[in-house]
Amino acid sequence: MNLNIPSPITKLNSIFLKKKSVEIYVKRDDLIHEIISGNKSRKLKYNFMDAQTKDYTNILSYGGPYSNHLHALSYMSKKLNLKSIGVVRGQKYDKLNPTLSFCQINNMSFYYLNREDYRHKKYDPLNLQLFRKKYGEFYLIPEGGNNLLGLNGCSEILSEVDVNFDFFCCAVGTSCTASGIIRALKKNQFLIGFCPFLKILEQENNIKKWTKSDNWKLVPDLFFKGFGQIDQELTLFVKKFYWNYNIKLDLIYMGKLFYHLFNYIQRDFFKKNTKILVLHSGGLQGLHGFNFDFK
Ligand SMILES: *Cc1c(COP(=O)(O)O)cnc(C)c1O
Repeated sequence: MNLNIPSPITKLNSIFLKKKSVEIYVKRDDLIHEIISGNKSRKLKYNFMDAQTKDYTNILSYGGPYSNHLHALSYMSKKLNLKSIGVVRGQKYDKLNPTLSFCQINNMSFYYLNREDYRHKKYDPLNLQLFRKKYGEFYLIPEGGNNLLGLNGCSEILSEVDVNFDFFCCAVGTSCTASGIIRALKKNQFLIGFCPFLKILEQENNIKKWTKSDNWKLVPDLFFKGFGQIDQELTLFVKKFYWNYNIKLDLIYMGKLFYHLFNYIQRDFFKKNTKILVLHSGGLQGLHGFNFDFK
């Protein structure tokens, strides 16, 4: 697969940032590949290498019905001649949404788990046994690629960065990406992880599992009503961001990240001459589910 790695770094220029004396650099992982963009390719890289080394032919993983992770994983599996199985949160609908249709085109098989079982029992031995009976042996990649191999792929992002930044900002789902970055930060650098949802305890605990450093902080969604919740203010922000900076943001992760970050800057949270590096973790495929366009 042809991946555009190292991905480029773009500096944002605007009167607002100039006035606030804050520099923002964006690590453009959204440009890594037109389909498996963003942090998903980072997290899957070593997982797929491991699966192939161990001669697995089936890959099983987990995600919600609009999962960028399953989207990328199905495509990568097909390219590498592997069969993919997606354990999907929630009920099965007759008509597949754009994300799952894409997965199906890539020959992904779906196994639906209701929300309750998905939350608490998706890794239960009994369920794994059920999956094995149905699909045969498989290589299991946890939800969001959140394991050591996933983390290691994300740590590599910083080896491609030559900007001397003070803050690293990224969007958080499982917090795998944030954990990998924190492990690669210098002591005088600080990570702010923007969570597009309200409860962040699980993500904080996940980070603590992987690192003892304390130069990081997660912030919950302060302006919107939780995961997947969007409104006109956000869609307008994302459109304006595209007009001003010529960079497309998705509504679930990156739109909310920049909305929150710009609010911090507006309120002078950062000292003058602070350099911020933002990871653009992709996610643009999700916009199809919203019928969104940037015009
Ligand atoms: C999946 C995803 C994230 C979350 O990454 P984690 O490693 O699970 O925290 C962030 N941004 C985008 C665009 C994503 O698709």
